[in-house]
Amino acid sequence: MRDLHPLFVDVTWNAGGSTRQGVATTTEMVAKANKAYGLPTCMHLTCTGMSREAIDKALLEAYNGGCRCILALRGDPPLENEKWEATAGGFLYARDLVSYIREQYDDHFEIGVAGYPEGHPEENDHEVLIDHLKEKLDAGASFVITQMFYDVDHFLTWVDKCREKGITAPIVPGIMPISNYASFIRRAKWCEINVPPDFMMALERVKDDDAAVREVGAELVTGMCKTIMEKGHIYHLHFYTMNLEKSTRVILERLGLLLN
Ligand SMILES: Cc1cc2nc3c(=O)[nH]c(=O)nc-3n(C[C@H](O)[C@H](O)[C@H](O)COP(=O)(O)OP(=O)(O)OC[C@H]3O[C@@H](n4cnc5c(N)ncnc54)[C@H](O)[C@@H]3O)c2cc1C
Repeated sequence: MRDLHPLFVDVTWNAGGSTRQGVATTTEMVAKANKAYGLPTCMHLTCTGMSREAIDKALLEAYNGGCRCILALRGDPPLENEKWEATAGGFLYARDLVSYIREQYDDHFEIGVAGYPEGHPEENDHEVLIDHLKEKLDAGASFVITQMFYDVDHFLTWVDKCREKGITAPIVPGIMPISNYASFIRRAKWCEINVPPDFMMALERVKDDDAAVREVGAELVTGMCKTIMEKGHIYHLHFYTMNLEKSTRVILERLGLLLN
């Protein structure tokens, strides 16, 4: 991935909320990427199952590992369909984690937060969700990475709404390359996002042919990235690589964004 010259690579934190053993793994990966591979990292950090001491430990390890960027998140419940609950002595919202990191580390870390153009399972009101996003930025975060989406028109309208509500920070769209029909459908359902009819039709036609899905998927996702970038107020793309660089490389190539 270093050959693709990313601004940073993300290292997730117990994504899915299922395990707590990731504490060492995430910070170890962050240190290794920074120190052994010279790859700047954005370390995700959630509040799920995390006491203040555990958060202190994670932040110190990130600091010692050469990390300069944290994506501050609340996290999902440890088990699917469970209600999220704060850990004793821990934090209730990502906003509180953002404030804490700023308080403890001043400007050492760039802090990002999550945005949800198509909503969040625990909040139906899109306006309220944008207000909560603004609170995270007002607490000291400086950029937003969004949940994955394929509905570009909806995303661009959402960005306008964020701007109208006074959010001025860079908003980085979350782009999920399509490399397999089954995982495309599964992820869209899991994240409760809308799949535009043209995406659905084009992919359904080739769904039993993996190579064709990759080709059609690359065309569709490249097209959506172009539309986003051409609008002129989005300057970065965040790729959910899922540890696989091939599909992302193809899209970057087609966008003319591969540096030699
Ligand atoms: C780019 C990205 C990366 C992610 N990476 C990870 C990861 O590495 N590990 C992982 O476990 N999960 C990850 N997630 C998932 C994320 O942890 C979940 O979506 C989680 O449910 C919400 O996290 P948040 O930081 O957005 O929470 P918050 O912003 O704290 O919001 C959580 C809920 O509380 C509500 N809320 C916020 N503030 C208030 C308030 N003041 N009053 C009342 N309600 C409020 C919000 O509307 C929302 O419904 C990621 C998500 C994204 C988009």
